[in-house]
Amino acid sequence: MRTVIAQNSSVSAATLNLLDLDRQGLEEYFSGLGEKSFRASQVIQWIHQKGVTDFQQMSNLSQALRDQLQKNTVIHPPEVVYDATSTDGTRKWLLQLDDGNRIETVYIPEDDRGTLCVSSQVGCALDCSFCSTGRRGFNRNLSTAEIISQVWLATQLIDEEKRPGRKVTNVVLMGMGEPLLNFDNVVRAVRIMMDDFAYGLSKRRVTVSTAGVVPAIDRLGDILDMRLAVSLHAADDELRNSLVPLNRKYPLQQLMAACRRFIDKQSARSRITFEYVLLDGVNDSDKHAQELIKLVKGIPTLMNLIPFNPFESSGYKTSPVKRVERFNKILADAGITTVVRRTRGGDIDAACGQLVGKIEDKSRRHRRFEEPRIGMQA
Ligand code: SAH
Repeated sequence: MRTVIAQNSSVSAATLNLLDLDRQGLEEYFSGLGEKSFRASQVIQWIHQKGVTDFQQMSNLSQALRDQLQKNTVIHPPEVVYDATSTDGTRKWLLQLDDGNRIETVYIPEDDRGTLCVSSQVGCALDCSFCSTGRRGFNRNLSTAEIISQVWLATQLIDEEKRPGRKVTNVVLMGMGEPLLNFDNVVRAVRIMMDDFAYGLSKRRVTVSTAGVVPAIDRLGDILDMRLAVSLHAADDELRNSLVPLNRKYPLQQLMAACRRFIDKQSARSRITFEYVLLDGVNDSDKHAQELIKLVKGIPTLMNLIPFNPFESSGYKTSPVKRVERFNKILADAGITTVVRRTRGGDIDAACGQLVGKIEDKSRRHRRFEEPRIGMQA
């Protein structure tokens, strides 16, 4: 394990942070300056492909434009305050935002890919009973800059490792927060991830994971071709209400209908990843598996079975390995493609549901689901 403390000066909130803009936003900015729109592609490459923050190094821009950008804008990521590598290679960063809040980002290297797990909010308002992030409360949405900076920083810090083959090939919005309750900033950040002038990740390599914000799933399907993961955890409403309180607002029938609509809008051969955390004696019986098979019938499915990562006072236990195997076999025998996720990074608290950052809780829990703020009209 390794810890690094970096220093980074804070900037005034009034200064335009170019990390907040996707290519379209940069084009609009440059056209406002009377510049040609191709400046946007040049600058986005400097920022995201070359990791340059000093405008004077942007050698294909005129000196006047470099000076102007330097005067009026910044390229300002959050500060890395903690950087730890697990014995299994999983690496976790704690990032400090300008207002003092802290968020976490996790990199999971595998033989054929490197997956970055990105946060979308400071904390989470959904309060799923088995997730320690939710238990800590909610503070605010992350800006586009704060979301894409996680990819920006990780790309560079992994590059510095100089280990052949190590890079960010996949991004999953499965860190802290509910991405679809921070819709506009998440979409802008995803556009940067998929932009060929930035990270150029294909639509199969960027996944938004949601607890099931139905209107936002519809809107996402309308505007982006990408992967959707839905955190199910139960196949009947009563049980799901107790695990994922958002289910009271968007029950399973509505959620599954939204999943079907989403798939219909996507390009050929796409499927939905369903996540199912196995909790001992709660949702892991043969009967639960049978119900799950019925629920996803007709939807192209990848079922991700996740062993519960325990945390203090959660009240839940991890399902025994034999139970997980049996549950998996029932699904597989019914023709469902399944993956049993291995827990990674447990020794540095980087596993699913262990990302807690440092959150000043601002949620008014009793009003939590009355008005979902998803940056859109439902
Ligand atoms: N809000 C989004 C994304 C964040 S959670 C969502 O709900 O999908 C990302 C995944 O981690 C979810 O599938 C969640 O159910 C899972 N998770 C949360 N806490 C966990 C825990 N303690 N053990 C295992 N998985 C957990």
